[in-house]
Amino acid sequence: MFDIFNPTEEHAALRSMVRAFAEKAVAPQAEAHDAAEKFNHGLFRQLGELGLLGVTVPAEFGGSEMDATAAVIAHEELSAQDPGFTLAYLAHSMLFVNNLAQNGDAAQKARWLPGACDGSLIGGMCMSEPNAGTDVLGMSTTATRDGDDYVLNGAKMWITNGALDDSTMGDVFLVYARMAGAGRSEISQFVIEKGTPGFSIGQRLKGKLGMRASGTAELVFDGARVPASHRVGAEGSALVHMMQNLEIERLTLAAMSLGIARRCIEVMNAYAQDRKSFGQPLNRFGQIQRHIAESYAAFMAGRSYVYQVANALRLDKPGNRLDSDGVKLYCATMAKDVADRAIQVLGGYGYMAEYDVERLWRDAKLLEIGGGTVEAHQKNMTRDLSALRLIK
Ligand SMILES: Cc1cc2nc3c(=O)[nH]c(=O)nc-3n(C[C@H](O)[C@H](O)[C@H](O)COP(=O)(O)OP(=O)(O)OC[C@H]3O[C@@H](n4cnc5c(N)ncnc54)[C@H](O)[C@@H]3O)c2cc1C
Repeated sequence: MFDIFNPTEEHAALRSMVRAFAEKAVAPQAEAHDAAEKFNHGLFRQLGELGLLGVTVPAEFGGSEMDATAAVIAHEELSAQDPGFTLAYLAHSMLFVNNLAQNGDAAQKARWLPGACDGSLIGGMCMSEPNAGTDVLGMSTTATRDGDDYVLNGAKMWITNGALDDSTMGDVFLVYARMAGAGRSEISQFVIEKGTPGFSIGQRLKGKLGMRASGTAELVFDGARVPASHRVGAEGSALVHMMQNLEIERLTLAAMSLGIARRCIEVMNAYAQDRKSFGQPLNRFGQIQRHIAESYAAFMAGRSYVYQVANALRLDKPGNRLDSDGVKLYCATMAKDVADRAIQVLGGYGYMAEYDVERLWRDAKLLEIGGGTVEAHQKNMTRDLSALRLIK
């Protein structure tokens, strides 16, 4: 029996495979890696063996050749156990792998995708800068053509997988830069590898509120030279790649919020049956019932919206900007609020690491910022809605 959340037999099989793996292998390591602020490299490689690192990539390049709904399922299930680890997975599988699979040429795909799909390469995507986040087209990293090469100068901030530990950079990145002297929207995209002279970690960013199992870094380009064959698409034309990839990024970030909310509801529901106060289980009290029931209804509303958008989203062309902003706007705050309610239902125990909900609450907050702030989604959606008279 298939439904909106598992529209085909393959989707249902994928969900049960990822859920079993997440419960068995991802859950037990989550608290320790959060506490140590450590990325779990070995576990990440196992995602390659399961075919998850290239979930949307054609089989000829080592991928599983599945769709946006499959990507959403993988992110929901992994995030239900460890959102920090899942953020590293998203940066790799969506921001690097899917981006290159959609926009790279045949030689680029043949060179980098097989290693990225089996986990021997860990990738990321460099868009944000120290002085340009929401205003991404205000970026000041430049690319200058010099013979058969481009020379990159500038810095990128908060790059997930930028550092895998205190000193090791991720292996390969897609980076957006402006041609020196070009207009605001004339952005180009390049693949740059670890070990390129002039390309280095500026700062390993530690002390994050949440998502601590993913490595975040500032990456610096100081005369970094990349061959022209590493340019993805035509010079100055990468804005469309960026916009297209933001759609699947926002959708899968919303899926991460679903995983967080679902897990928090499971925890508070079970706890409220077991824990007694004034001689009764907590779930007999109306105020506790409100936390549980409203969380579930909000989760199901968000989940229905996410899968409705995922089931219609084409990975190879843009066209879902309004609703990819919409699902993330709704689900990010929904998950943070549900995690907050879970802590409240668990009282003192909720505030401790043992029941996971305090970690999930910290992780949930990032989803109101990364991949677009809630204010950015409100801005974008109002702009898009102003061009609509009737909603279909
Ligand atoms: C853990 C983590 C991982 C990340 N990973 C990556 C990554 O892998 N790659 C990458 O490229 N980036 C990454 N980012 C960066 C992230 O996408 C940016 O932080 C985000 O886009 C916001 O940009 P900013 O931090 O510069 O905030 P700003 O843009 O400076 O915004 C600050 C505040 O002002 C508000 N604001 C700004 N402009 C407006 C406006 N016009 N109207 C109303 N309000 C406005 C914002 O909503 C926000 O509340 C990551 C960030 C974090 C924290």
